[in-house]
Amino acid sequence: MTGNDAVFLPNKLRLLMELRRNGIADDKVLGAIERVPREKFVPATFLDQAYENVALPIGNGQTISQPYVVARMTEALELGDRHKVLEIGTGSGYQTAVLARLCRRVFSIERHRALLRQAELRLAELRLHNVTVRYGDGTKGWPEQAPFDRIIVTAAAAELPAQLTESLAMGGILVAPIGEERREQRLVRIRRDESGFTTEELGIVRFVPLVAGLPRDGAGAAG
Ligand code: SAH
Repeated sequence: MTGNDAVFLPNKLRLLMELRRNGIADDKVLGAIERVPREKFVPATFLDQAYENVALPIGNGQTISQPYVVARMTEALELGDRHKVLEIGTGSGYQTAVLARLCRRVFSIERHRALLRQAELRLAELRLHNVTVRYGDGTKGWPEQAPFDRIIVTAAAAELPAQLTESLAMGGILVAPIGEERREQRLVRIRRDESGFTTEELGIVRFVPLVAGLPRDGAGAAG
């Protein structure tokens, strides 16, 4: 640990303890969270809150997810180092970075170009070369790369797009928040096997909405 990193260390350790207290038990997940510098993913104005257990604004009306939710969803994915993962909603790239530490390859889609560009720079700076990002509408999945061992959706839809469940490999797991905007949403885990899909409820969460299509100006301009 060098330079500025040390400034964040006490808060980071406090956050890790809080996650453990709140039931995150997977040491690999906690280890990945420990190794991803969240301060690099939040806007400068919120730097002092980088290790608070809260979601923070990242521009374009979007948020970097709450660390507990990132930990919970990552744990729920039961990641292995051979897994190929699809993420819908790159946002800041923070969840992407945590995933990248725990699996073989991450494919991540974002519909705001400005957010995607910043996320790409951060991931490159952290030398997470096993991530491929794409600008586009994640509700359509990434058919050229399907099937995926794991799929994570970090924005809430009233209904899960069929394209995503269809992209899940046999034995695969999908984790997503389901529900209407500005309401409580249910975090679900869906497993696929030969006999079909099984859904489990993991609790209540709150996410920005999964929006089909691309921003109207096509550029995903900041605002
Ligand atoms: N995991 C991210 C969370 C970002 S918030 C982080 O921790 O930073 C959810 C993101 O999903 C937003 O950036 C939003 O623009 C994106 N999103 C919403 N609908 C989408 C869609 N149809 N395709 C791709 N990304 C989408």
